[in-house]
Amino acid sequence: KLTSREFHPQDTVVDVDGVKIGDGSFTTMAGPCSVEGLEQIRETAQIAKEGGAKILRGGAFKPRTSPYAFQGLEEEGLKYLRQAADEFGLKVITEVMDENHIDLVARYSDILQIGARNMQNFKLLSAVGQTGKPIGLKRGISGTIDEWLNAAEYVAVSGKSPVIFIERGIRTFESATRNTFDLSAVPLIKKMSHFPIIVDPSHGTGVWDLVPPMARAGVAAGADGMIVEIHPDPENAWSDGQQSLNEKTYHQMMHEIQVLNTAM
Ligand code: PEP
Ligand code: MN
Repeated sequence: KLTSREFHPQDTVVDVDGVKIGDGSFTTMAGPCSVEGLEQIRETAQIAKEGGAKILRGGAFKPRTSPYAFQGLEEEGLKYLRQAADEFGLKVITEVMDENHIDLVARYSDILQIGARNMQNFKLLSAVGQTGKPIGLKRGISGTIDEWLNAAEYVAVSGKSPVIFIERGIRTFESATRNTFDLSAVPLIKKMSHFPIIVDPSHGTGVWDLVPPMARAGVAAGADGMIVEIHPDPENAWSDGQQSLNEKTYHQMMHEIQVLNTAM
């Protein structure tokens, strides 16, 4: 298989327009769950940059459980996200939910994110694989490691896009956390595939004060980076405020991670 270690023994380093993922450094992607407006995303981009993130995240097309919940600002959100990232020298990752929106999202984003709910949307995987852009592939809500690797194979076989695996927790019987964060996926994917893997402790736990310890655990497990939700005012966030760090807690976490990384 194209994604397997047997096929390609060396680590693949994914180059996101100059930002390298999988080269032994730890790359942080930070930003709000949803882009809510230009000022909100600019403020968040500044906080992200000051903490040491290299890539700005933010949803413009949102996969919401309820059809009545905020669905995202769509193209307007993509424009704000790109503008804020460019202003602060950051790259962009954002989700593409629909095959018909791939060209649109690819015009604004450096990495195309495939959400957990679309991990086995095989037509979407094949189509994004043809763009050549790096694909951030979230683990499915109840995706096994084997299903996840096969999803990555759909991307790899259809074109030239490299994959970045994103462990974001899986559904189990446990209800104290939003998902069960499966850290063993990090060394397991590293053993089985040459593509990098990052952790998403925000969706992995669903609780903001569990995020920094699980981010540190991600570093210890050997992840190539993380994607984390931050917001200037989490209590008033339009989505996922309960799992978002504010400026202070984000900067504190980034400091801890830097200390850990130099120790390792
Ligand atoms: C997100 O990143 O905001 C998101 C919707 O994540 P997931 O697809 O992992 O649920
Ligand atoms: Mn979210």
